[in-house]
Amino acid sequence: MTLQPILNYAHSLIKAVINHGDVAVDATCGNGHDTLFLSSLVGKEGYVYGFDIQKQAIAQTEERLKKHCAEEQVTLVQDSHAQIAKYIPASHQFEIKAAIFNLGYLPGSDKNIVTTPQETIASVKQLLSFLQPGGIIVLVIYHGHAGGAEEKDALVQYATSLEQKSFQVLQYGFINQRNSPPFIIAIEKK
Ligand code: SAM
Repeated sequence: MTLQPILNYAHSLIKAVINHGDVAVDATCGNGHDTLFLSSLVGKEGYVYGFDIQKQAIAQTEERLKKHCAEEQVTLVQDSHAQIAKYIPASHQFEIKAAIFNLGYLPGSDKNIVTTPQETIASVKQLLSFLQPGGIIVLVIYHGHAGGAEEKDALVQYATSLEQKSFQVLQYGFINQRNSPPFIIAIEKK
């Protein structure tokens, strides 16, 4: 098929901007798939910061990275992505080339522990101020769970309001799928 599934498309957007040696952020580590993907793209000369509020997610991400010998260039933080400025050293903040958010709950875990509009937007705002020109933030928005619709609406409203002189904002999703299908909002800094 020509049209890429949501997660493939999210990764292809990230892959298009990241080079070896870059700095990247996984704002929601979960089971660590995206952290591993970012780590392989930046290579040993680059760096990845991964955030998750759940101990289980950080442990699973650490295990996945170790299994692929990709942990050396990654710092994992068990705290909210709203606190990124506190954990990413000043020397790396303005080198960030890409960030990914995979919103919602950790698959196979407590469905009540979810990302929230307030913390997600607080994090995106900080990342947009740090991001290098040409850099990108990719939000994969799952919204079928309790609280998901509120987060989706807040993010669409926030992203729509971004100044077009400074940012390009893309929405990508399949509009004929049933049951609240996920979609992407990608924000590129000009
Ligand atoms: N990207 C992950 C992967 O590859 O497996 C899946 C992420 S999962 C859909 C969403 C994750 O966001 C959960 O693990 C959850 O604990 C985490 N989360 C919820 N609120 C958060 C916050 N404020 N800061 C960081 N992570 C958060």
